[in-house]
Amino acid sequence: MFYSLQGEGARAGRAAVFCRFSKCNLWNGREDSRANAICNFCDTDILGTDGQNGGEFDTAQSLSSTILAMWPKVGVSENSKPYVIFTGGEPLLQLDDALIHHMHEQGFEVAIESNGTLPLPDNVDWVCLSPKADAKVVFDYCDELKLVYPQEKARPEHFENFTASHFFLSPMADPLIRFGNDPKKKTNTQKALDYCLQHPQWRLTLQLHKLLGID
Ligand code: SF4
Repeated sequence: MFYSLQGEGARAGRAAVFCRFSKCNLWNGREDSRANAICNFCDTDILGTDGQNGGEFDTAQSLSSTILAMWPKVGVSENSKPYVIFTGGEPLLQLDDALIHHMHEQGFEVAIESNGTLPLPDNVDWVCLSPKADAKVVFDYCDELKLVYPQEKARPEHFENFTASHFFLSPMADPLIRFGNDPKKKTNTQKALDYCLQHPQWRLTLQLHKLLGID
């Protein structure tokens, strides 16, 4: 868990506590299984709970209190509402109504970034859906749809009729290059840019945190 600025999408630049759940249902997180995974371009360490501020939490209350402690002690207004982004891994493997409820009680707005393959709780405030090829999506509405591009079996046309306020293409990067020169990403950025120019429903999103070299 860490406090930073959202680096991509419609809320890029907004301060948030990021809470990364371990594990995903589309890859086991081991490099020797990446090639055969349903999702094989993951750039995140999704194994274990020993990351920054990591651990195992027995109750929703203990986790929500830890998240609250990471938010700066400043006054709250409509423009500075505490904000938590549950991500992963796939957060819907673990995120439940109780945790969302506790975050709301603490005054937080709750966002998730999900691959869309598991049922969505109905009390999430902001949903970023990021579909993956060969993984059946079980809900077709969200606030922002962020498609990693290109994916041969998950083309933008498959999702253009979903209910969403924002449609983004995020150029696929080399998952083993976190910062610095990434020729694959450069090529895919040009492809995404060309697609957006031809299909204005879609907007290009770049990962500002990677461009700036921050978490
Ligand atoms: S769905 Fe997301 S968390 Fe899961 S392996 Fe793919 S990129 Fe990683």
